[in-house]
Amino acid sequence: MPGTAFPAPALAVLGGDPAFAEPLHVGRPNIPRPERVLRRIREAMDRRWLTHFGPLVREFEARLAETAGVRHCVAVCNATLGLQVLARAAELDGEVVLPSFTFVATAHTLLWEGLTPVFCDIDERTGNIDPDHARRLVTERTSAVLGVHLWGHPAPTEELARLAADHELALFYDSAHAIGSAHAGRAVGGFGGAEVFSFHATKFINSFEGGAVVTDDDELAERVRLVHNYGRGDGARVRSIGTNAKMTEVAAAMGLTCLEEMPALLAVNREHHERYREGLADVPGVRLREPGPADRVNHQYVVIEVDAEASGLDRDAVAAALAAENVLVRTHFHPGCHRTEPYLREPRRFAPLPLPRTEALGERVISLPTGTAVTGKEVSAVCALLRRIVEHAPSVRRALRARPPATR
Ligand SMILES: *Cc1c(COP(=O)(O)O)cnc(C)c1O
Repeated sequence: MPGTAFPAPALAVLGGDPAFAEPLHVGRPNIPRPERVLRRIREAMDRRWLTHFGPLVREFEARLAETAGVRHCVAVCNATLGLQVLARAAELDGEVVLPSFTFVATAHTLLWEGLTPVFCDIDERTGNIDPDHARRLVTERTSAVLGVHLWGHPAPTEELARLAADHELALFYDSAHAIGSAHAGRAVGGFGGAEVFSFHATKFINSFEGGAVVTDDDELAERVRLVHNYGRGDGARVRSIGTNAKMTEVAAAMGLTCLEEMPALLAVNREHHERYREGLADVPGVRLREPGPADRVNHQYVVIEVDAEASGLDRDAVAAALAAENVLVRTHFHPGCHRTEPYLREPRRFAPLPLPRTEALGERVISLPTGTAVTGKEVSAVCALLRRIVEHAPSVRRALRARPPATR
């Protein structure tokens, strides 16, 4: 009704009804062609070939190698074991320098393998590892640098390659977020000595659970293949220690189908990202994080930064106000691995230098819902909510303060 001023419904945190009846999640799986996945699983069962380098795993590996622009791909049951198998196959020892601002699995895999993760700080602008800070942490015990393409944004690959060459270190990447991303026209997957993708259900491409080690190094690929299969080589002859990190045919059925649909998934993510950009453009104190000019990214994560001074609300208040609306956002990777057990209790060993930029960025970020499980309309509604939450910052702040501590 033109000319009639409708009062907007009250924010839930101020006593209104939640904007969403059902919770909106971050990281709900992309499942682009379920009927095709089921057909492939049915075919695997008909073949009675369920695991152990079946045709689906081999096809998935071939397509992944092509996507990453490398010669070798070994599919694994998850990225955590992929990183462990890689560390073992590369015979790393001593210390490995990595960013603290990552999912804790990046660090755990190293400690599990008897290595010492040593945390370095980030470049606040990109959120990625700061190569200068990493350089300051190299000692005679350092054997490798493990970069992370945070939120799918490529790490500073040129600088890290230089650092690794200067100190004769191995260089690997945790590429759990970054399949489909590229830097300067080169696909993620081909940087460093090897990279490890994750196909966990919440990731851009999923195989329920899964991962892959990709590399151009013939010898390393051979060793990864051995270690991930109980150390057994051709003719089942045991040639080294190994574990079981193989991918199943069921996982490959899902992974392969998602990979085939990657262009469509990318288009949805891009559209959502653009919608967030438009919807949040002039919301004071809320800034959408964008990829670097030389980067192509999969937009698996939509991350905003909250500037508490400009918005009138700190990040936790914004997240709480969104949660009241049934928008369940995440704050990855707060508070950083170095402030997580077991690393927290031994700062001199794991974090010998202070990590102020990791801590500062961790306090400001929010991951918003995206992917095929949300609609453009829902994305617009989240933007509108953010705008109104900031508009009503003083009352939102007061309402949150009045809550009993457990619900804050
Ligand atoms: C998800 C994730 C992992 C672990 O992957 P899984 O396949 O679940 O084992 C490792 N590193 C990062 C950065 C991740 O986000």
